[in-house]
Amino acid sequence: MAQAKKSLAKTTSKTQSRTASRPSVKNYQNYIGGKWVPSESGEVSENINPADTQDIIGRFPLSTPQDVNKAVNAAREAYDGWRNMPAPKRAEILFRLGEILIRDKETFTADMTREMGKVLKEAGGDVQEAIDCTYYTAGEGRRLHGFTTPAEMPDKFAMCVRQPVGLCGLITPWNFPMAIPSWKLIPALVCGNTVVLKPAEDTPLSSYNLVHACEEAGIPPGVVNLVTGEGESAGAAITNHTALRLISFTGSTETGRTVASSCAERNAICSLEMGGKNVIIVMDDGDIDLAIEGAIWGAFGTSGQRCTASSRLVVHKKVYKQFSKKLVERAKALRVGNGADPKTDVGPVINADAVKKIMSYIDIGQKEDGATLACGGRRLTRGDHARGHFIEPTVFTDVAPDMRIAQEEIFGPVTAVIPAKSLDDAIEIANGVRYGLSAAIYTSDVNQAFRAMNDMYTGIFYVNASTIGAEVHLPFGGTKATGNGHREAGTQVLDIFSEWKSIYVDYSGKLQRAQIDMVEGLG
Ligand code: NAD
Repeated sequence: MAQAKKSLAKTTSKTQSRTASRPSVKNYQNYIGGKWVPSESGEVSENINPADTQDIIGRFPLSTPQDVNKAVNAAREAYDGWRNMPAPKRAEILFRLGEILIRDKETFTADMTREMGKVLKEAGGDVQEAIDCTYYTAGEGRRLHGFTTPAEMPDKFAMCVRQPVGLCGLITPWNFPMAIPSWKLIPALVCGNTVVLKPAEDTPLSSYNLVHACEEAGIPPGVVNLVTGEGESAGAAITNHTALRLISFTGSTETGRTVASSCAERNAICSLEMGGKNVIIVMDDGDIDLAIEGAIWGAFGTSGQRCTASSRLVVHKKVYKQFSKKLVERAKALRVGNGADPKTDVGPVINADAVKKIMSYIDIGQKEDGATLACGGRRLTRGDHARGHFIEPTVFTDVAPDMRIAQEEIFGPVTAVIPAKSLDDAIEIANGVRYGLSAAIYTSDVNQAFRAMNDMYTGIFYVNASTIGAEVHLPFGGTKATGNGHREAGTQVLDIFSEWKSIYVDYSGKLQRAQIDMVEGLG
């Protein structure tokens, strides 16, 4: 099931007059074959500020399968030129892109806060991540190492090189509107692939900014194509397109499964980054104040809408009361508001459907699960909050590991504090969910830290730090329902966007049969 969508007004006959009455709202277009073009459908959706739903940021094309097809054809036409450009030259263009992102960081940051809601500092971090990813990955243009190895026959040479996979479809979520597209786009390009990018319905502007910067950097027409629109139409058209050799998807586990099934049908490579139910373990010998800082940052940063959000806090029973009390005090002091206001700690959630979903979990936590609502739990609808999607930072205590609020991804400013009897107990609880993205432990005992590090089945692990804060030069991804074994970022991402080709050069001048002919002198 797709994640909740921000309410999107299509410019159908019903809404045309409404949108037409706002001439100042900018109309954006798809980018196909190096040209900015409208969707064949002529329909658009409105990109709405989640902190102020009367603020319409722009209208973006609701693309059709025909638009996707055109974008794929453009990617196909550009492919040979791009893949045959020496990788260091591709990288030079990408370094130029990095410079443009640095130059426009402030504008892109403000745009992101306006379309997605996260506070300015975090939006700046998102853009910075795209910059870091661009510089780091562009550097791979001068590496892209293969290897040589001895062949088993004389006068024969063996080597292995990376080759691009071909045409790639990139489908991204709204919570990291520039970082995540960059995590896919830049490695795809440095490896010599051409792409069709479809960003989430709620945050097309940040991808527009990224692709616009690609155009300015001089990436040739057709190498990067942007189609905006809905998952069920444009997204599905991408996942089903037989010319796209690879689909790289980040989003919910439910949508990821649908994407994976389509890819399996046509033998496409499929890389998935999906949901999380991440955990901080707090031991009785841990620095409690530091753990509180980490929990507040991990649970309520980006309003809890991070795949790595600390939505579970498993706390040793000896410090459970002390920890919970301090956590609640800190959570209550957080200022909820428009992310554009520098005084705001916690911005809005993405859209009305997200409010509904999160509020339903707050209800489930109290009524169905029987946990204690220790603070928060209300939607904020008055004064400065009247026109946005605001929810109080919410802490549940007395949570049992099998409760729904401790098992399911809520994706909002809600965290659950679960008591544990021992490190073993804590690890069992921490591993006892269907996801496996990120985990953390606060302890001063190195033995406990290493035990947890070894026993947690997640893709990311932190000691004395929160569950969020990944860096671009380390692999990123998760186990179980979070992923399908691939890792983005680091050099490991190259294994998604390139395939190995083994090459044998026989310079013996005669037929040599591997596994059959005996090498002279050996028998
Ligand atoms: P989503 O699954 O609703 O949408 C993700 C993307 O898929 C969007 O672009 C959407 O339009 C598209 N889509 C929807 N239905 C589709 C279909 N049938 N075929 C093809 N594409 C389709 O997720 P979301 O609400 O945008 O993002 C939130 C989710 O993403 C959370 O579960 C979060 O944990 C996860 N996420 C994971 C990571 C990670 O790296 N593991 C990072 C960020 C977000």
